[in-house]
Amino acid sequence: MSETTERIKCLIIGSGPAGYTAAIYAARADLNPVMYTGLEPGGQLTTTTEVDNFPGYPEGVDGPAMMVDLQKQAERFGTQVRMGMVTEVEFSKEVGGVHKVCVDNSTWLEAETVIISTGATAKYLGLPSEQRLRGGGVSACAVCDGFFYKGQDVAIVGGGDTAAEEATYLANICTKVTMLVRKDEMRASKAMQHRVMNTKNIDLRYNTEVDEVLGDQVVEGLRMVNNQTGEKEEIKITGLFIAIGHKPNTEIFKGQLDMDSTGYLITKGKSTKTNIPGVFASGDVQDKEYRQAITAAGTGCMAALDAERYLATIESSEEVTAK
Ligand code: NDP
Repeated sequence: MSETTERIKCLIIGSGPAGYTAAIYAARADLNPVMYTGLEPGGQLTTTTEVDNFPGYPEGVDGPAMMVDLQKQAERFGTQVRMGMVTEVEFSKEVGGVHKVCVDNSTWLEAETVIISTGATAKYLGLPSEQRLRGGGVSACAVCDGFFYKGQDVAIVGGGDTAAEEATYLANICTKVTMLVRKDEMRASKAMQHRVMNTKNIDLRYNTEVDEVLGDQVVEGLRMVNNQTGEKEEIKITGLFIAIGHKPNTEIFKGQLDMDSTGYLITKGKSTKTNIPGVFASGDVQDKEYRQAITAAGTGCMAALDAERYLATIESSEEVTAK
C-alpha cells in the first residue's frame, strides 16, 4: 500500500440521494465531508426521466436535474464533491481507528468516518431491443415510472417479491399487466403470489420469457416465447418493467463488512452502523425492500447523524483520557 496523502473527517462514497443527503447533514455539522461520486455521478436517478414522487416537487422533477440540485445543496454547505471511484478499502476494526481508502487504484486517503452509499444496480435481461428502449418504455422501477402508463397495457418480467409487488402496483394503475415468469412457479412469498393470482387484470404467464421488445423509439409491443414449447406470441404494450433483481454495489467491501447472502450490507438495528466502528451504510446498498429516493435520502441523513455522534463520542473519550 502506498503512502496516504490526506486525512478526511467524513468520507462519503457514492453520489445518489443517500450520499448527497448524508453530505448536506455532515457539512452542516462541520464534518467537512468529501464525496467520491463513483462512475455514475448522481446514481440511478440520472437514468430516470421524471421523478414524480419525491416530496416537495408538485410538478415533478427531472431525475438528473434533481441530482444537480442535490449536489449544489451539498456544496453550498462546504462538501467537496470529487469525481473518482473508490477501488479498495482497508477498514480499521478499532473504535477511533483510521480507515484507509484508495481512489482510482492510485491515491490512498485516510478517513475517520466513512459513509457508504454506493447503491444497487438494477439487473436487465441484456437483450439488444431492451437496452435500446431503456428510457423509451423499458424501466426497472414500477413505483417510479408506472404512473406514466396509467390506463395502458404493460408487461413485467420476474417472479420474485419485487415483481409480484410491482405487478399488483401496476395493476392498480394500468388496464392490463402481463407478467412473465421464466419457471413454472414464482419465487415470491406465498402471500405475494396470492395477491398476484387474485388480481383480475394480471395475466400471469409461466415458462415465458421475452423474445424481443418491439418498437423503434418507444415500446409498442412484446414478443414472448414459451420456453417449454417454443411458441411465440406478440402482445401490444407501451411499457415493459424489468423486475429480476438488483445487485448491490458492495464488491470492494467483501471480507470486511457484514453482508447478507445477496451482498447487501447489514446495518445494526435501526441505525446505519455496520460491523466496523466509524463505517456507516445508507441507501439502496443496505435496503433491498423499499429502494426509493426518499427512503435512501432518509437513511443518508441517519448516516451523517450516526457519524457525527460517533466522532463526538471518540472526541469526548480522548478528552477524558487526556485529563
Ligand atoms: P429475486 O432475486 O428474489 O427474484 C428475481 C426474480 O427474477 C426471480 O423470479 C428470477 O427467476 C427472475 N429472473 C432473474 N433473472 C431473470 C432473467 N434473466 N429472465 C427472467 N427472469 C429472471 O429478486 P427481488 O428483487 O424480487 O427480491 C430481492 C429480495 O428482496 C428478496 O429477498 C425479496 O424477498 C426481497 N423483497 C421483499 C419485499 C417485501 O418483503 N415486501 C419486496 C421486494 C423484495 P428464477 O426464480 O427463475 O430465478
